Amino acid sequence: MKKNPFAERLAAFAEKVAAKKLDAAVVFNQANVRALTGVDCDNACLLVGGGRVVLYTDFRYTAAIGRTAPWLKVDDIKKLNGKKPLSVRGLSFGAVGYESVITHAKFLSLEKTFPKAKFTDILEDIGELRAVKTAAELDALRAAESLNDEIWAEARGRFRAGMTERDMARIIKHLMIERGEGEAFETIVCVGRNAAECHHVPDDTVWNGREPVLVDMGVKLGGYCSDMTRNIVPARPSPAYKKVYALVLEANRRAIAAVRPGMTAGALDKVARDFLAGNGYGKAFGHSLGHGVGIEIHEKPFAAKNGKTVLRPGMSVTIEPGVYLEGNLGVRIEDLVLVTEDGCEVISHSDK
Ligand code: ZN
Ligand code: ZN
Repeated sequence: MKKNPFAERLAAFAEKVAAKKLDAAVVFNQANVRALTGVDCDNACLLVGGGRVVLYTDFRYTAAIGRTAPWLKVDDIKKLNGKKPLSVRGLSFGAVGYESVITHAKFLSLEKTFPKAKFTDILEDIGELRAVKTAAELDALRAAESLNDEIWAEARGRFRAGMTERDMARIIKHLMIERGEGEAFETIVCVGRNAAECHHVPDDTVWNGREPVLVDMGVKLGGYCSDMTRNIVPARPSPAYKKVYALVLEANRRAIAAVRPGMTAGALDKVARDFLAGNGYGKAFGHSLGHGVGIEIHEKPFAAKNGKTVLRPGMSVTIEPGVYLEGNLGVRIEDLVLVTEDGCEVISHSDK
């Protein structure tokens, strides 16, 4: 990495810091640091402000970062430990941006590092910048989602009657470790009525080979997540299952067809929600339609009721309507899409 792969995003962030009249912003969150610099380090703080960019880290990482990101000025993170005020030539630190997800202890130490500062939360600003992916990030998402498709096809072929949910989840997990970088989140496998709980944890429920199975999975590849939900539909499903499956699939298709830059994430959620509600399943769709996927599994935009983020080309968002009938059945169909200039590109290719 001879130059910052996220130079444009970092420049936009520096502009935001200036526009908010902050002298500087300090970024501790690992995913945020990575999304602004490409540096993936579990003990780092990026300081941005007044034309300066400094990455504070400890001696374990200094040499490696100096090699991989030579354009970055690196300094000792001990200077931010709250023992004494930070001094950087030319910066006064009267107003400092921080991320509201840091621990309270860290915040208290920041107050000592910047004793004169008035603090402003800049977490949302970084989230908005991260929501629009770079071309390289879009390629990484396509590659991760393709691998996820491949693993699903392979795993599904290995599922046998008599296996438990845990057995099936283990098959998926092993394939993800072999071919990718492991799970982006804990794989969900729900046999039969267990799918009515939308975040069921795989247990010892045995699959008889005739019940439906819901699988929600995502492999990590190149540091990026993927996310998809598919269902094994039995050859002879119950009439109720068949009906619900067809409606959820239609809700998924309608939402995909509705994606446009310029619409809010809330308006996208409403497309699927109104359709399911119109068919009597409004209450049975108890979660939001989707979320962005990137370095982390849940990122902006959040396609939820009243979601305010405006969709823009380069954003990723899952389309995952579901219907859950307690004690009876559950169906969710989830695809990952990339917002384009005139609609979206669906990057999940598994049959549904
Ligand atoms: Zn999912
Ligand atoms: Zn999801």
